[in-house]
Amino acid sequence: MPLTKRLAIIAAVFFLAAGQSASAQGLPKPEDVLGFKIGDDYHLATYIQAIDYLKRLAASSDRVKLMDMGKTSMGQTMTYAVISLPQNLASLDKHKDISRRLALARLAPAEARKLAQEGRAVVYIDGGLHASECAPAQHNIQLAYELAAAQDAKTLRILNDVILVLVFANPDGMNLLADWYHPNVGTPFEVAPMPRLYHIYAGHDNNRDSLVANLVETQNITRLVNREWYPVVYYNHHQTAPFPARIWTPPNSEPTNPNVHPLIVRWQNMIGSAMGAAFDEEGKEGAISRIVFDTWYPGYMTQVVDSHNIISILTETALYRYATPRFYTVRDFPAAYQDLTMSAFYPNPWKGGWWRLRDAVAYCLTASKSVLDAASKYREELLYNKFRMGSDTIERFRKEPPYAYILPADQADPGNLALLLNRMILLGIDVFKAEEGFTSDGIAYPPGTFILPLSQPFGLFLKNAFEEQKYPDLRKYPDLWQGLVASKAFEGAPFEAYDMMGWTLPYQFGLKSVAAQTPLDVKMSPQNEVRFGSGKIEGRAGFGYLLSSGENASYTVVNRILKSGGRVFRAKKEIAVQGRTYPPGSFVVPSGAAQAVVIEKAAKDLGLRPAGLADRPNVETAEIRKPRLAIYQSWLASAEEGWTRFILDRHEFAFDVLHDADIRAGSLKAKTDVLIMPDYGSGQAVVEGYAKGTMPPAYVGGITPNGLRNLKIFAEEGGTIVFMNGIADMAVEMFGAPARNVLKGVKSQDFICSGSILRMEFDPIHPLAYGLPKEGAGVFADSLAFEISPAYGGKKEAKSVAKYAGENMLMSGWIHGEKLIKDRSAVLDVTYEKGRLVLLGFPVHFRAQPYGTFKLLFNAIY
Ligand SMILES: [Zn+2]
Repeated sequence: MPLTKRLAIIAAVFFLAAGQSASAQGLPKPEDVLGFKIGDDYHLATYIQAIDYLKRLAASSDRVKLMDMGKTSMGQTMTYAVISLPQNLASLDKHKDISRRLALARLAPAEARKLAQEGRAVVYIDGGLHASECAPAQHNIQLAYELAAAQDAKTLRILNDVILVLVFANPDGMNLLADWYHPNVGTPFEVAPMPRLYHIYAGHDNNRDSLVANLVETQNITRLVNREWYPVVYYNHHQTAPFPARIWTPPNSEPTNPNVHPLIVRWQNMIGSAMGAAFDEEGKEGAISRIVFDTWYPGYMTQVVDSHNIISILTETALYRYATPRFYTVRDFPAAYQDLTMSAFYPNPWKGGWWRLRDAVAYCLTASKSVLDAASKYREELLYNKFRMGSDTIERFRKEPPYAYILPADQADPGNLALLLNRMILLGIDVFKAEEGFTSDGIAYPPGTFILPLSQPFGLFLKNAFEEQKYPDLRKYPDLWQGLVASKAFEGAPFEAYDMMGWTLPYQFGLKSVAAQTPLDVKMSPQNEVRFGSGKIEGRAGFGYLLSSGENASYTVVNRILKSGGRVFRAKKEIAVQGRTYPPGSFVVPSGAAQAVVIEKAAKDLGLRPAGLADRPNVETAEIRKPRLAIYQSWLASAEEGWTRFILDRHEFAFDVLHDADIRAGSLKAKTDVLIMPDYGSGQAVVEGYAKGTMPPAYVGGITPNGLRNLKIFAEEGGTIVFMNGIADMAVEMFGAPARNVLKGVKSQDFICSGSILRMEFDPIHPLAYGLPKEGAGVFADSLAFEISPAYGGKKEAKSVAKYAGENMLMSGWIHGEKLIKDRSAVLDVTYEKGRLVLLGFPVHFRAQPYGTFKLLFNAIY
C-alpha cells in the first residue's frame, strides 16, 4: 500500500478513536486498494481482493462490521459485511432478537406492534451466486463503500432504519472466474465460457439447492437467514435479463407458488415496481417485469425464503460476457422488441448502445439502493407484517389440514430420515418426537414417531416441501394469469415451469410420510438434532456383520472396509436376522478387529443399524471386488457431473477423473474398471466437445470418434460404463445397445415432463436395484424411456431393472402424454462382449436430492 493511503487509514482510525463519525475522505475507495475502479472494462476483483478491501473499509468506518459464517466447499472463509449506523451496530443483539421474535410470531399483536416500532429492518443482499454473472459480486464492493461514505440525508435515513447484511454467495466461484477470464483478455478467447463449474460441485445449480441445503455454502446462508438474522427482505442478484431488457425485476411470472402468504406477493410487486420507478427516475432504460421468471419451484435461494415469510427479490441485470463491453443496435433485438413498444411491465424500452460491466454494476446499485429505500420507508409495516404472516400461518393450520406430517421412525433407510429431519431443523422447522403411542386418522403410531406440525411460523415451507405438487395448466385462464383484455382459449402445447414442477421431499428421500387430516393430541418433545445411532450392534458378531442394502450409509461403511483391505460379500436373497428382514444385496462382513471398529463407529455416526451374525448366513453370497472407479469430465462443464462427484465424495467412493485427452489416449482398462459418463445432455455433445476456435486449444474437440472407439474397446475388454440420464442415448445410438428411446424426436405437443416425480417399479432381485423397494419414486427430467429390442448374437443383451409404472404414474408435478412411457424401461443392464453398459435413463441423483435412488448408481459401481 502506498504510504499516503496508509496514512489515510490511520487518520480514519484516529477519528473513530476520538468518537467521531468517519468522514468520506478518510475511507479507502475500492480503486485505492484494487488498483482499478469497480466496473472498469476487463477488470474483475477476486473474492480475496474484495475481502481485503472490506477489511480496510471496516477498519476505517464505524458503519461497517465484518463477520464470518463458515467455510466454502473449497475451504475459504465466508466473510460478510453488516452495514448500518454505528448506534445500530452497537446494538445488533437487540435488533436480531426483535427480528427473531417477530419472525417466530408467538406474540400478542400489541407487543408485535411495539417491537415493529422499535426494530430495524434487516435486509439481506447477496451478489455472485452465479459467478459468471459477474456484476453483482463487484457491486457488493461499491455498495459497501458508498453506504459507508455517504453523508446525504436520504442515505443516513436508510442507514438509521435498516441493517444491511451483505453477502458474497459463492466466494470460490468469484476467484475461479477471475482466474479464467483475466489471462484470456486480449486473446481470441476473451469471452470463451469457463471449462469448469464455478461451484466445484454444483455450478449453476447452487441456486437449486436451497430446498435440501446439500452444499456448505447453502447451509451457511440458511443458518444466517433462518436461525440468526430473520431478514424482512432477501435480495438475490443475477444477470440473465431477457434480451434486450437491461434488468428484470418483480412482479414475477406465473405460476405462483401457492404456499406463500399473500403479503409476500404484494410486497414483491411493490418493491419490484418501486425499483422500476427508481430506474426511470435516474434515466436508466430497459427495466422489465412479469415475464420468464416464475415462483413455482422452491429450490432457489429466493423462493425458499418466500415460504419463510421473507420477501424475496430476484433481479436479472443484463450481461454480455464477463467484463468485456459490447455495442448493440435495435437491429440486434428480437422482432418483438424492435419497434420499442411501451407496455405495462416494460414502459421504458432500452434503445441499444454500449453495455459495459460499469453499466451493469450501476443498475445493480440502483436496484439495491431502491430495496434499501423501500425497507426504510416501510420499516414498521414490514416488521409488523413479518409477525402477521407467521401468526396467520400458526392460526391457519390450527383450523385446517394438513395438521402435521407424521414420519414413522421405522423406515427402510433411517439415515435418510435423520438427514431430512436435520435439514428441516436447519431450515427453521420445529421437529417433534412423540413421547407416547397415538392414533391419527385411524392409524396407530408407536412412541418415537416424528411429528412436524404445520401450525408453526414457517409451516408453509414445510407444506411446500412435503406435499404433492399439483402443477396448474396455464392454458386455462390466460386472461386472469397473463393480463389479457378478454378470455381466450389457448391452443397448443401446455406450459412448463421455469424449473421443476414437482419435488416432494419424502418421495425423493424414499420415506413414508403421512399428512394428518385431523388435529393431533399427543405428548411430544422438540428435537434439536435427530440421531439414530445407538452405537450398538444387535446380536453377537461371531461370524460377522450384516448391513442393509437399503441404507445409503451401508455403502459408505463398505467403502471404508474395502479401503482398509477388509472383505465384503453381498447376499443374493433377503436374510432375516433378529426379527428384521434385510433386503437382497445386503452386505455380509466377516468379523475382524478392524471391521468391528469401522462398523461400531458407523453405527454411532451414521445411524446405521448393523446386525451381528452368529453364524455364516444360509444364502448364496458374492464377494465385492474393490472397484477402480473413474468419472469422465468433459470441458462442457455440467452441474450433473459435479453432483455425481458430490454424492461419490459424500459416500466415500474413491475415484479418478478422466478428461477428453485420457479417453482419446485409450488403454482405459488399464486405468479403471468402472467409468461413469455423467449427464452432458447427449453423446453427440461429448464426442464433439467445443468447436475449434471457440476455446483455447487444450479444451476443444471432445472425446472424438477415436475416443468413442476406445470406450467401446474398454467395454469389450470387460469394463463397465454407467450412462447417467441424458447421455444414456450414447449407449443406444453409438454402442448399439439393443433398445430404443421411445421419447426420441417426440414433440412437446405430445409429451412434456421436465422435473416431476413418477412412480417407478424396481426389480430388487437384480443386483443393480438391490436395496430398492418394488415400487418407489423417481425424478423425471430430460429423461429416457426404453423399448428393448430382441437380443442379437448373445453379445448384447438388455435386461430391464426399473420401469415407469403402468398406473398412477404421476406422484408429484405434472406429466403430459404419460401413455408414451407407461410400462417402458427406465434402467437397463446391457451385456456388451465381456463388459457391461448400465443405462440409468432417469436422473437417480438429480441435484443430489433423490436420496432414495442413489443406490442405483452405487450398485452399478459394485
Ligand atoms: Zn443467475
